[in-house]
Amino acid sequence: FALMRDRMPADDRTFIETPAAEKPGSSSRVMTYGDAVALSSRMANLLIQRGVQPGDRVAVQLEKSAEAIVLYLACLRAGAVYLPLNTAYTLAELDYFLGDAEPRVVVCAPSAREALEPLARSKGVAAVETLGIDGTGSLMDGAAACGTGFTDVERGPDDLAAILYTSGTTGRSKGAMLSHDNLASNALTLARSWRFSPDDVLLHALPIFHTHGLFVATNVTLMAGSSLIFVSRFDADTMLRLMPRATVMMGVPTFYVRLLQHPGLTRDAVSHMRLFVSGSAPLLAETHDAWAERTGHRILERYGMTETNMNTSNPYDGERIAGTVGPALPGIAIRVTDPDSGRPLPGGEIGMIEVKGPNVFKGYWRMPEKTAAEFRPDGFFITGDLGKIDGSGYVHIVGRGKDLVITGGYNVYPKEVEVEIDALPGVVESAVIGVSHPDFGEGVTALVVRKPGADIDERGILQALEGRLAKYKQPKRVLFVDELPRNTMGKVQKNLLRDANKDLYARAKTG
Ligand code: ATP
Ligand code: MG
Repeated sequence: FALMRDRMPADDRTFIETPAAEKPGSSSRVMTYGDAVALSSRMANLLIQRGVQPGDRVAVQLEKSAEAIVLYLACLRAGAVYLPLNTAYTLAELDYFLGDAEPRVVVCAPSAREALEPLARSKGVAAVETLGIDGTGSLMDGAAACGTGFTDVERGPDDLAAILYTSGTTGRSKGAMLSHDNLASNALTLARSWRFSPDDVLLHALPIFHTHGLFVATNVTLMAGSSLIFVSRFDADTMLRLMPRATVMMGVPTFYVRLLQHPGLTRDAVSHMRLFVSGSAPLLAETHDAWAERTGHRILERYGMTETNMNTSNPYDGERIAGTVGPALPGIAIRVTDPDSGRPLPGGEIGMIEVKGPNVFKGYWRMPEKTAAEFRPDGFFITGDLGKIDGSGYVHIVGRGKDLVITGGYNVYPKEVEVEIDALPGVVESAVIGVSHPDFGEGVTALVVRKPGADIDERGILQALEGRLAKYKQPKRVLFVDELPRNTMGKVQKNLLRDANKDLYARAKTG
C-alpha cells in the first residue's frame, strides 16, 4: 500500500466510478483517491477495534463495489490478510472455506448476514460486518464512527497480503498465499509493460474475488494512479455505451466473443480505447483475428494464475501473436520441462510450464505437502499447464496437464484436436476430453456446439478430421451439446463433462 500511496494522484482524481445505469434508481457514484484513502483509514481503524492483529484473515464475500475495494486497501493497511470469497459459494461451501481460513472478521452482504453469522461464529469468527453494493451496512456505520487518522501497520515484503482461492477448475479450490511483494512487484511490472498512466480509464466488468479483477485490474490502476469504471456484470450494451469514456478493457475471452456478436462493435465505438487485454482462459485465434478486423485493435493476451499473478504477456509495442500468451514478463523466468522427470526440454517441445520470480506465491494455505510437491528443488513452481516456448520466446499453452488424454499409450493434447474441429464449418466450439475406455485406457471424446441450423453430424466431423489428425488423435465419439459449461471466469469445466460422460464407452460395450 505504501508503494501505491506514493504513486497516487491528487486527492480529487477519480479512483472508481460506478455509472448510473448500473444502479437502477440512483445516480452515478464516484470514489476519489482522497475518499479511498480516508475511508480505508476509517475501515482499518474499525478492523483493529474488532481485534484484527497482523496476519489475521479478513474474509469477504461481497458483490462488486468501490467500498469493497477500499476494504481490501484497509486490510493491507491494518496488516490483515485479505481473503475474498466467490459470491457464488453456498453456505455449505462457506462452511469449508471459513473452517479452512479461520478468519477473525467476516464481511458479507446485508441480506446474507442472518444465514452466515451463526456459521461464522461456530468457526470462531469474532465479528461479522455487512456491506451493501450501495455503500451501506454495519461496516460503513462502524467506519463512520472511526477517525480518518491511521498509521499503517508495518509489514515486510514476504508477509502475507492475501489468500486467494483458485477457481476450482481442476478440483477443490486451494488457498494461494500471496505476499505484499508478490502483489506489488507484479502490479508495477504490468503497469509499466502495458504503459498505464494517470490518464487511463479501465473499463472493469470482472468479478473482484478473482486475481484477474482484483489484482491485475485494481492493483495496476492503483500503481499508475489511473481510474476504474465498475460494471457489476458484463453486458455488451453497457460496455459499448461506456467505451467512449474508457481507454483500456480487461476481459475474459467470452467478453470478446459476446462483443463481436453485437452490431454496435465498430471502429468508431472503440476509437477512444488504446488497449484490450484478455486472459484467464484461452483466446481463440479466430476471435483475435475477428477483433482485429472489426476494430483495428489486436487483443493483448496474457497468462497468469492465482498462484503466480501474471507470468507472460504479449508485448505492448512488439508483435502480438494470436494463439500465444507472449514472452515471460520482465524479471520472471519460464521454462518447459518433461512432466515426469522435471528435466528442462529444448525450445519448441511440449511439456510442463514452470515459473520462477517475485510473482510466485508463498505456498498453499495449510497444505504444506501439496506446496512442496508443486515446487522443484531450484525454486521453480510447477504450473500444471502444458505448453511450449517458440524460437521468439513466446509461450504457447496447449492445455492443462490434468486434461491430457492418454489413449492406447499415446498422449493427445485436447487443444490440437479442438483447433481442428473448431475450424470446421457449422461448428461454434468444442471441448475434447478423455473418457475411460475398455480398450484404449482413455478414448478421445469431442463435445461440440453446432451453429444453429448447421448441417453437420458425428460422421461428418469424423470424416473431416481424417487426414488432418493422426489416427490416434481422432475422436472415438463426437457428441453434440447446446453449450459448454463455463464458470464465472469463462473457463470450460471439463471435469463436469468428464463426469457426465464417464460411462460412454462402458455403455457402448455392453450394448
Ligand atoms: P484450479 O487451480 O482450482 O483448478 P484454475 O487453475 O482455473 O483452478 P485460476 O488460478 O483462476 O484457477 O486460473 C489459472 C489457470 O487459467 C492457468 O493455470 C491456465 O490454465 C488458465 N489460463 C489463464 N490465462 C490463460 C490464457 N491466456 N490462455 C490459456 N489459459 C489460461
Ligand atoms: Mg490452477
